[in-house]
Amino acid sequence: MREAIADKLYFIPGRRGGRFPHCNSLFIADGGGAIVDPASDAKELQTLAAEGVGVVILSHYHTDHVRDLKLFPGAAIYAHRADAPALRDLDEMIRCVWGDQAENSGNWRGRKLREVGGEWGWPVARELTDGEELTFGSVRCQVVHTPGHTPGHFCLWFPDAQILFAADFDLSEFGPWYGNTASSVDETLASIEKLRRFQPRLTVTGHESGIIRGDLSARLDAFARVVHEREARILECLKEPLTHEELVRKGTIYGPYYSPDNTNHWMEWRMVWQHLRSLEKRGVIGQEADKYHRLI
Ligand SMILES: [Zn+2]
Repeated sequence: MREAIADKLYFIPGRRGGRFPHCNSLFIADGGGAIVDPASDAKELQTLAAEGVGVVILSHYHTDHVRDLKLFPGAAIYAHRADAPALRDLDEMIRCVWGDQAENSGNWRGRKLREVGGEWGWPVARELTDGEELTFGSVRCQVVHTPGHTPGHFCLWFPDAQILFAADFDLSEFGPWYGNTASSVDETLASIEKLRRFQPRLTVTGHESGIIRGDLSARLDAFARVVHEREARILECLKEPLTHEELVRKGTIYGPYYSPDNTNHWMEWRMVWQHLRSLEKRGVIGQEADKYHRLI
């Protein structure tokens, strides 16, 4: 059920507590109707579609934010310029997610397609850029480009209502997720810093309970701290030279939830890879043959 959070602005909680394969949605009930991230609750989204939705805004290309997009066949799709190619084309999406590991991912392509009901390839009508203002009747919002999770991930700032839609900068205890080839640890940290410029009355996150009231700074601190703690654990392991694969099996990201036999293996694999790239770039680690070792 939708919940009013400001004038003409509604929060739609995602099923399964807003967890994958769902997310929380926002509905702007003005200017022809706009839905942000249509993957919360198909029944409620269907009701909205019947009432009229002219625009669908996608915060990024992940299936758990796109899942029920097909309920809005007549709506114009808005997405950030950097994620639009992955939304338009399945092969491009797979390149962004898996890069050169696509062959090792088993039937991942089929699984991703099933998550969105067998369809992919969305005609993005408008490519958004950082700072752009969108207006739907009396509701204004600003695009805040926050790359790192995906290259084109963005949040929305509603200045009149003082509401931030933070999408997958979800401020969860798990911490930021950067498990795609096209993700980036460094951009993730920069995006967390960028969000500090806002003083929201209320923040809507893409996952979990979805509503955070008041000051965000402590939550942003904690979210960034997780990244630094992951890096510290990786550096601790690299007191002895290790290959990427050996490091993955230490489970520095997923901890007790890591297993070489489930999908967390591949997310652990890619997130560790992102940390190794970041550490190499900063000259903290080096590589000899296939082993990584500390330089400082
Ligand atoms: Zn995501």
